[in-house]
Amino acid sequence: MTLCTSGCGSEIPINVRICPACGMDNACPNVRAASQPAEVDALDHRYSEALNRAAQRGTRAIVLDFQAAVDQSVAVNALSLDEAERILKASNKLFQTFAARISAGSQSPCTTDYYDMVRPRVEALLFPYYGQEIRFAALSLTYDGLTSFGPIALILSEQAIACRSTVLEDNSVHFFQDHKTDLLADFPPGYRATWSRRGMLAVAKLADQISGPLDRRGYHNLLLHHDATTGREHCIEVHIFGACNLHTVNIVRGPKRFRRNADQVRWNDLQYRAHSHGLTVELTP
Ligand SMILES: [Zn+2]
Repeated sequence: MTLCTSGCGSEIPINVRICPACGMDNACPNVRAASQPAEVDALDHRYSEALNRAAQRGTRAIVLDFQAAVDQSVAVNALSLDEAERILKASNKLFQTFAARISAGSQSPCTTDYYDMVRPRVEALLFPYYGQEIRFAALSLTYDGLTSFGPIALILSEQAIACRSTVLEDNSVHFFQDHKTDLLADFPPGYRATWSRRGMLAVAKLADQISGPLDRRGYHNLLLHHDATTGREHCIEVHIFGACNLHTVNIVRGPKRFRRNADQVRWNDLQYRAHSHGLTVELTP
């Protein structure tokens, strides 16, 4: 609970945005959750411990350079050609979440798919009663996104998302697997952060993996990579509260050539559409 910022005297649960007494907007609940003193203090502690260990190894300056790079990182939403076409069609088309597709009846959850079955429970714990408002992305230093979600990457405008976004140490399902958080346990503090503290979170998570100088691609590969042994994609997950449309996007990125001609035709059309909305298009080799 926190006191309403209007001074009306009401106490508001962390997961509530609009004060039910005076209507004051008390900021997005994910941002409020990550701004709790217990969260901030726990991340500060993890961060300074990580820097101390780096100093002992003689890598403190490199770790701080890594942090400076992640402070400038972008949120990338990777998606299929189908979904990219839908979003870039018109400004009234919104990013769709998995939960929204299920509740709208436009997609069936697959009961044999581990992620389909676990994700709703994880989201209920992470975003109590506001999970339907959260859109997901991943931090990137190269504009590459999580390839398992599709070949098109939308690079989101920092201006459009900074005040309503938070970051979590890993993919939220993997995070709960690793921390064995059960349904009644408190969410462990120090593993999520507001957008402006994403560099600190990256240091707390990854500083121990830095043993020598790395270029920007090296930093990116620490932040986001596919582990062929486990099949896992490692990332820092971005949680964006509220609607996103094509104007939330800065850059559309996709392959120079699709293997199938039919897909290439659609991609060419999509590039034309992106240009017509004033977006930048980038092609990957
Ligand atoms: Zn109030």
